[in-house]
Amino acid sequence: MKVVLQNLTKKFPNRNKGVRSDVIAVNDFNIEIPDGQLIGLLGPSGCGKSTALNLLSGLLKPTSGKIFFGEDDVTDLPAENRGVGLVFQNYALYPHLTVRQNIMFPLENLKGAAKLSKAQMQEKALEAAKLVQIHELMDRKPSELSGGQQQRVALARAIVIRPDLLLLDEPLSNLDARLRLQTREELRRIQHETGITTIFVTHDQEEAMSISDMIIVMKEGVIQQVGRPQDVYDSPVNLFVAKFLGTPPINVFSGEVKDGGLWIGGDKICSVKLEGSRAVWVGIRPEGFDLDENGALSCALAGVEVMGRDITVISNNAMSDSGAIRSIISAENRVDTSSDTVRFNVKPYKLFLFDKETEERIYCEIG
Ligand code: ADP
Ligand code: MG
Repeated sequence: MKVVLQNLTKKFPNRNKGVRSDVIAVNDFNIEIPDGQLIGLLGPSGCGKSTALNLLSGLLKPTSGKIFFGEDDVTDLPAENRGVGLVFQNYALYPHLTVRQNIMFPLENLKGAAKLSKAQMQEKALEAAKLVQIHELMDRKPSELSGGQQQRVALARAIVIRPDLLLLDEPLSNLDARLRLQTREELRRIQHETGITTIFVTHDQEEAMSISDMIIVMKEGVIQQVGRPQDVYDSPVNLFVAKFLGTPPINVFSGEVKDGGLWIGGDKICSVKLEGSRAVWVGIRPEGFDLDENGALSCALAGVEVMGRDITVISNNAMSDSGAIRSIISAENRVDTSSDTVRFNVKPYKLFLFDKETEERIYCEIG
């Protein structure tokens, strides 16, 4: 089901005593979420992700704006009538019920024409349990399950009603690292198999990038950028998005554009098609460096980490705004570790310029 948000805004009274101004947790969202996709809603803690999700589920009422499910305006529709499946970070299962009873629970509440017989409920619960591969544990209590298994039960309980929209709020945060990796692949598979439009909230950029068809990056209640993960990574609209995506993170330098060239300190990095002279932030992805003894950018060599497939060169530069520079190069390179300096050429498509004040991207020909 397609979901459309129009000028959606949610304000809260400020929790800090003495502060009059409201917190704008969701600020004028305008977005169309296509049917059948897995959407990653991504941003740092406190940026408004949960608020956005709770507006969609109906648990919160917007201050202004509208929500459409398909062509229907659901802004004033109560949560229980929205046909939405919800999964939270803490699994919130009923401890005294078995797995089967937990999954069947939403079906017991169906009324009127939708009402099911006990046998039908059992069948649907089993179907959902099979989808999340928990069907062999149907008679256990939640306390007899691992965290990952409990989260699968929560997922089965959310999809047993075949919702038109599935909302997941940091569903993997309580799982350990290995289980998190495995479960996110599972989520992808389940979403593919069911085709349910799914919005997946996380503060973990890698998690969002790895499984989403589309990501929405937000900061302080405001949508910064929407797009396919690779497209957003390859072309961030501002310094915040550039810094938020990627591990290791993008390297940021204080630079200057003058006489058709980009300068970092005393080094001319490349030519740029930009009039006049101005100070800029220069973002260079870790994979954007080529080792070259005559390279344009000179840095103080601090260390080399050999990772098998590639090498991380760690170096320093007085113009760096992000601490030590991490450059990832192929392991076929040899780094002269006896030298104090290391020189790089920079791949133009891995380099982005941003305005020093607004931190917005400066689009121009680089190379
Ligand atoms: P996230 O899920 O991205 O961590 P939230 O949506 O939980 O962020 O919160 C966004 C902002 O709204 C935060 O500043 C938070 O303190 C504030 N906020 C959330 N819920 C309430 C509330 N019920 N009352 C007041 N402020 C709230
Ligand atoms: Mg949250």
